[in-house]
Amino acid sequence: MVNQTVSNSSYQNALIIGGGAAGLATALMLAKRSWKNITVLEKRPTADYYEPDKSYNYAIDGRGQKFTDYLEITDKLLEISVPSTEFYLTLIKADGSRKTSKLPIVDPNRKTTYWLPRQEFISLLYQEIQANWHDSIEVLFNVKSCDINKINESHAESKEQEKLEISVYKDDNSVTKFQPSLLVGCDGINSGVRNTLKQWDEAVLNKSVSNESITTKYQLHYYPSPSSLLRYKVLTLPASFPLDLDGKEKLVCNMAYAIRGSFKERQRAISLGLLPIKNPDSPRTANIITRPGHEIWNLKTGNEIYSFFEQAFPHLPVRQIISSEEAEKFAKSEGGQFPIPQYCSGLYYLLNQEQSNTGIVLLGDAIHCFPPDIGQGVNSALEDVCVLQSALSQSNDNISQALPLYESLRSKDLKPLIRLAQTAFPWQYNQAPLSRRLWSVNFFLRLLLSRVLPFIFSPPAFFLIQNHRLSYQEIWVKAQRTTKILYALGIILICCFFAIYFVYNV
Ligand SMILES: Cc1cc2nc3c(=O)[nH]c(=O)nc-3n(C[C@H](O)[C@H](O)[C@H](O)COP(=O)(O)OP(=O)(O)OC[C@H]3O[C@@H](n4cnc5c(N)ncnc54)[C@H](O)[C@@H]3O)c2cc1C
Repeated sequence: MVNQTVSNSSYQNALIIGGGAAGLATALMLAKRSWKNITVLEKRPTADYYEPDKSYNYAIDGRGQKFTDYLEITDKLLEISVPSTEFYLTLIKADGSRKTSKLPIVDPNRKTTYWLPRQEFISLLYQEIQANWHDSIEVLFNVKSCDINKINESHAESKEQEKLEISVYKDDNSVTKFQPSLLVGCDGINSGVRNTLKQWDEAVLNKSVSNESITTKYQLHYYPSPSSLLRYKVLTLPASFPLDLDGKEKLVCNMAYAIRGSFKERQRAISLGLLPIKNPDSPRTANIITRPGHEIWNLKTGNEIYSFFEQAFPHLPVRQIISSEEAEKFAKSEGGQFPIPQYCSGLYYLLNQEQSNTGIVLLGDAIHCFPPDIGQGVNSALEDVCVLQSALSQSNDNISQALPLYESLRSKDLKPLIRLAQTAFPWQYNQAPLSRRLWSVNFFLRLLLSRVLPFIFSPPAFFLIQNHRLSYQEIWVKAQRTTKILYALGIILICCFFAIYFVYNV
């Protein structure tokens, strides 16, 4: 039997499950609103824990900066990141030729975006907690799992009160119980908090409705996109390495690279994508994104990796770039898979409202999740935190009023966000060159028309997303309106063509 130690119950004000960007940002927001006794639970052992397959870069744009401005940490963010104004991309082709250009498809009129590795942004938030908010926030790492329950407590003088009780199991087999007034679910795509709410809702609906196929508001809605289910693996590379066989050209830390391989066939074609980082001593990561049936997924040993990469990249000194340990690790890694764009419309749950001011709220990937095409994962999560802060502010931190307000303010953006993730830039991974070309034609047509007739046509959605003053809903409405006008013009052109044809030939 597992030896468990059960500590005394702790009565906490807010308990946050998940110490990623959304969880730590929510803790900081609550602390800034003078909440005390905030506990964050995180599975990972430390804030800066390096997980190769989660080592992608965040681009904190105007939306994300609403949060860093609120917390007054934007200056600290600038110190550790690469601004989009200095973002240069070097394309290295299989024949060894190179071309460096400014980041394409960035709207120069928008707020500067700041690029940094995920773990560095999480560390920035964690350091902020340690430096300024350690009296109100405690972060517990190495959490194994959590059980979320509703309990009824009887009081002699009053009726029964419904309360939340969360049992937290840690890696050292200890169990701690919490009874928070606010439980926050920031536990990512496979959110246990969201799943618990779904089960509670289904149990209630099952009792009241005989129909078996009931849907709850915590059910996920899926919108498959051309990039969903692509598979990815991450290679961890040294901070600096030669980019040619002579060893003359070295990697530059704040430069992005797209290194194309020599294979042409779809199941072997490969390229390495490296995003820029500020710290010249940090290891670099190269993302490899492929269709599921790609040959890379059949390579099981370090030697097979070397052999494949040496054939794919004859213009690179592969053995100087990939250490033997990394080749083995990369071969063994199962990598990950881009999610299908998804969202749920239920963002909160209140316990028996008359007697308690206790509730559960969901933020971040727990309520909206999608592939990284539009760079909005972290920004939409930080925007959720700002919307929750606004709802708390408008209701004097009364949970029973704030949580429904948060849902009504935020839920109208979620389906548009997912539709944008589904359509705005899904072909960027070279997974289907013809479709990418068609997408580019559509993109540049909209860009051109929006420059010539700005009152009729909107710029492409990918451009509009960079305008943080527009909500996702407003962006989606503008993009849809342009789509409808383009369809109408297309139909008119086809009719004109047939009319002219009949006039001259019949
Ligand atoms: C390959 C890939 C590339 C991406 N690239 C980008 C990008 O370029 N830009 C971008 O903005 N977004 C990107 N994203 C999306 C981005 O990672 C998320 O949208 C963002 O991290 C959301 O933050 P979050 O805090 O909601 O969730 P997460 O970052 O997933 O954090 C959830 C946290 O909860 C913890 N957790 C889960 N369950 C429990 C539990 N029971 N107890 C304790 N802790 C728990 C997890 O360990 C994790 O730390 C990418 C995603 C993928 C998969």
